Amino acid sequence: MRTSLRTCPHCREYTLKDECPICHVGTKVPVPPRFSPEDRYGRYRRKAIYGE
Ligand SMILES: [Zn+2]
Repeated sequence: MRTSLRTCPHCREYTLKDECPICHVGTKVPVPPRFSPEDRYGRYRRKAIYGE
């Protein structure tokens, strides 16, 4: 069973549903920044800038 805890971008309430039961807006899975695929490109970008 796959459980993904989601969070409402509006009220920050945690829920397992795709929609916040309070605000009725779409929730999303909170992703730590270091796991973001965009950060990978950020590292390349920093490398290009600072020459690490
Ligand atoms: Zn909400």
